[in-house]
Amino acid sequence: LQDDYACIYCIVDLHALTTLQGTEAVSHIQQNVVEMLLDWLAAGLDPKESILFVQSQVPEVTELQTLLSMATPLSWLMRVPTFKEKVKMQPENVNYGLLGYPVLMTADIVLYKAEVVPVGEDQVPHLELAREIVRRFNGLYGDTFPEPQPKLTHAPLVLGLDGAQKMSKQLDNHIELAATPEETTQRIMTAYTDPARKRKTDPGHPEICNIYRLHQSFRPAKAEEVDPQCRSAEIGCVECKRLLAQEINEALAPLRERRLEFSSRPQYVREVLAEGAHLAGAIARETMEEVRDKMGLVPRKT
Ligand code: SF4
Repeated sequence: LQDDYACIYCIVDLHALTTLQGTEAVSHIQQNVVEMLLDWLAAGLDPKESILFVQSQVPEVTELQTLLSMATPLSWLMRVPTFKEKVKMQPENVNYGLLGYPVLMTADIVLYKAEVVPVGEDQVPHLELAREIVRRFNGLYGDTFPEPQPKLTHAPLVLGLDGAQKMSKQLDNHIELAATPEETTQRIMTAYTDPARKRKTDPGHPEICNIYRLHQSFRPAKAEEVDPQCRSAEIGCVECKRLLAQEINEALAPLRERRLEFSSRPQYVREVLAEGAHLAGAIARETMEEVRDKMGLVPRKT
């Protein structure tokens, strides 16, 4: 993506506060920010080509969230399925920020006038809401923001190791990029497969098995081999998972090596985030001048 687009990658620490609270937030957020940046750098995001920054370090985003919220009907937010899910998941903490989550997400996107947003399939409805908010704002105050378009990858929905829900740290069904090869293998060995396959001699159905889908993502040629072997019960699930763990560990080995190297350079990590906030902040301030002007607010520099 960074070769084809002017990319902006944001670590959304404010969004994290809709779930984390009090001492849990204080003890986790700063470290999690660093961990996420290390993952990105290890995966090849290059701060010379892309802007990498922390959401709260460009405070204009919260101003824009407030202004966009005035153009967002409450009913649009209350019907968002993830809001309803979160209410069920954390009934003791149904906060105002949780309801406004999609507005903050919209602000994250449009503050930089992003035209394309790389998302998973499950995020497409959220982006549609962002587009609705943009249309409404543009209708009320004149053309200001482009309507962001979703960009899906070749693996638009990666299911977690439970085989039922999307892969997510929060759901603890994920493969950690920073984990050791042993930890990765251990986790993969616990993954759900074809539920109809009770014994090794039962023929399997790769089309409903998440391990098979992961083979397809990591090494399509291996998936082609596994398909007939699974259907004819030539291969068992334990062996199949071991093969997948090996593929994933091989694919992640160079990334893990780079991650280790970046983690030994805390000063560089701080510099990347400072430079990212500086570059993102310049774009954000320009957008906010235009937004304030269009909404008839008193200019900041009077
Ligand atoms: Fe899934 Fe592999 Fe088991 Fe077939 S052999 S059900 S593809 S894990």
